[in-house]
Amino acid sequence: MNSADDRRNVRAGHRNGGGTVTGFVHKGHSPHPSLDDSLEGEIRAFLTDEDQLHTYDDLTKVNPVTPTTVLKCLQARYRVKVFYTHAGCTLVALNPFQPIPDLYSLDVMKEYHCASQPQEFKPHIFIVAEEAYRNVQGQLEPVNQSLVVSGESGAGKTWTSRCLMKYYATVAASSSVLKSQDTVERIERRVLDSNPIMEAFGNACTLRNNNSSRFGKYIQLQLDRCQLLVGASVQTYLLEKTRVACQPANERNFHIFYQMMKGATDEQRKEWKMSHDQRFVWLPKAEKTIEEDCFHDTVEAMVHLGINAEKQRQIFKILAGILQLGNVNFSSSTDESQPCNLQEQSKDFLQRAAELLCVPAEELQLCLRVRTLKAGKQSVLKPCSQAECSMRRDCLAKVIYAQLFEWLVTFINNSICADKSTWCNFIGVLDVYGFECFQINNLEQLCINYANEKLQQHFVAHYLRAQQEEYVSEGLQWSFVKYQDNQSCLDLIEGSPVSVFSLLNEESRLNRASDAKTFKVRLEKELCDNVNISWDKFSKVPHFTVAHYAGKVNYQIQGMVEKNKDPVPPELISLLQKSENALLHQIFTDREAENMTSKGLSKVTVVSKFKNSLESLMKILHTTTPHYTRCIKPNPDCKPLTFKKEEVIMQLEACGIVETIHISAAGFPIRIPFKSFMERYGLIAKYSGSKSESHCVDLEALSDDMREVEKLVRVVLQHQGLDPSRCLDGEKHNSWVHCGRTKVFLTQSMLDLLEDQRKRIL
Ligand code: ADP
Ligand code: MG
Repeated sequence: MNSADDRRNVRAGHRNGGGTVTGFVHKGHSPHPSLDDSLEGEIRAFLTDEDQLHTYDDLTKVNPVTPTTVLKCLQARYRVKVFYTHAGCTLVALNPFQPIPDLYSLDVMKEYHCASQPQEFKPHIFIVAEEAYRNVQGQLEPVNQSLVVSGESGAGKTWTSRCLMKYYATVAASSSVLKSQDTVERIERRVLDSNPIMEAFGNACTLRNNNSSRFGKYIQLQLDRCQLLVGASVQTYLLEKTRVACQPANERNFHIFYQMMKGATDEQRKEWKMSHDQRFVWLPKAEKTIEEDCFHDTVEAMVHLGINAEKQRQIFKILAGILQLGNVNFSSSTDESQPCNLQEQSKDFLQRAAELLCVPAEELQLCLRVRTLKAGKQSVLKPCSQAECSMRRDCLAKVIYAQLFEWLVTFINNSICADKSTWCNFIGVLDVYGFECFQINNLEQLCINYANEKLQQHFVAHYLRAQQEEYVSEGLQWSFVKYQDNQSCLDLIEGSPVSVFSLLNEESRLNRASDAKTFKVRLEKELCDNVNISWDKFSKVPHFTVAHYAGKVNYQIQGMVEKNKDPVPPELISLLQKSENALLHQIFTDREAENMTSKGLSKVTVVSKFKNSLESLMKILHTTTPHYTRCIKPNPDCKPLTFKKEEVIMQLEACGIVETIHISAAGFPIRIPFKSFMERYGLIAKYSGSKSESHCVDLEALSDDMREVEKLVRVVLQHQGLDPSRCLDGEKHNSWVHCGRTKVFLTQSMLDLLEDQRKRIL
């Protein structure tokens, strides 16, 4: 194992900042073609030496900061098995896709925790964890912290979040004398045990990740006055409940069903009507994952959290009932006035589903096959088509699963949340789905990308503050940095009076038969002024395209309004309210269940619910100090130690790293210490023989270093026939050079000019 000394690190960026001149051979593609052309592979001062790239612990310190250099740096580090790199105030985490021995051991945790300056150690998720932990104490008053972990599916978000939770459960353990004997009782244990439960119920094997979380999560770790972990609370977002009844090709249902299938005792099998060889339509057999072996871990975690044997029985019977429901099919009816019949082989499954869900079988059957229409005080019964029957069956499964998940989250919260009087601060860990862009995108992606758009806005504001601080410490004025604000995209999605969400909600409330068509027409008419939306009029599939900060995404219009309504036939709810399974009965008689039916107009739509929960999350984030970790999936096949450049650059774009690079490039991407600058370009002033005088800057006010630089730059600009006021003119956005206290800040164009002049002289 590495020693602490080994872990201690001389940050390459800092060393370079001290004046060491290194070179970077320009070989690959450069976003500035003129730079490559003019230099023709010449070794350039101040720019990062390619052989040294792996030593750069901070991406913003490579010179110049461009997507190409940043990508090369990450690749070089990955090659030497270094997985963490700072990017200014962000930590970039590359997924190794293999266990890295000792990288997260208890000893390593202790080293980072006990270090006087952990930030001088090699980049690690523990630096972020420790920084947040120390920040909580605050210099003047305690400040709550948020650790935002983002990245695409399979990038390592959940892994990182677990790692952070383990860190706090270790370094902030409230291992008081009273509690230490009984480990089961310990709060840290319970907080950690919430993970296997939520993962069993909320994760599934997908094409992109064998253990993919199908929900977003924000967990607040509660600390007392002594900085000890005394509790936690969890908030979840947008569980992908459709997966219960419909799994994409080669993907699977939620782990818990497989765990039950594999881990049940004979007795349980009997009770759950689940024989070894029983085939369930809703349990497709895709690639096996280790998660399906975890039934006993899940049950053990349930016990630790206080879910007693009786409650467990109720939970598992409900889940078993859902599986039986999946095998129920209907035959098509030739007579529209008659309801579809159950297929012969489905009768047993329906019977078993009813028994497991503890509802009358005949009523269950009736609910699935016949719709009750309310006309004034009278109700009319209308037979359902075959497709409608299947839809009602799926709807029943989805609503049961989603409510059960909610109940579990509430239970977990009741079990791990500390009394408000015992905790005073929190560290929040946010593990949410990253930006998504598939072949076909619908409401789910719109919500996910909207959330990312919100988080990006928060991040940019935070990042700009950090940039500002660096500029201020170097004495530069803030107005230099311009950046792309994504407010107009957010306005398009959620703004008022008209936006995609407002139109979607209106259409959902009006409940018209042709809602997809009218939604499309209204989008085109009422949002035509927004630059972030466009249409391909000739496309066969009606869609709209949103220009997100991370790229353009096409959203299919068909089905969007229906998904937003997410209607649950009231008959199904009344049926479940009659259940003799105490848990099922309870979760459908709570007040919230009232909102689920399509009866009232006040029904909450999917987007308004999501928007509200996201808004409260953003409110919390705004009151905390954020720390960003961007997880990157280095290859799409989850192969160990394989780095695919195209994949990585796309993710850097999608998670906003490229955007932040652009932000720094919008200012001065090249930063050169005065001494190095004069050593390289001093000869220009000497040989050009110019007697340029400064007219717009008070030279007296400048230091010697600055005066020299100012003179030199002026010469170069004049020589090129350019406006010399582009030098050092702090008030103007178009200035190309500025002197900080120790460094010269240059735009790429200015560097090109200087190099060009120098080359002519040599
Ligand atoms: P996400 O939540 O972003 O979809 P996960 O956190 O589930 O992704 O990570 C996917 C897989 O990658 C994990 O199951 C694990 O095998 C692997 N993994 C992620 N981060 C690490 C790491 N730091 N070290 C080793 N393996 C990792
Ligand atoms: Mg995950």
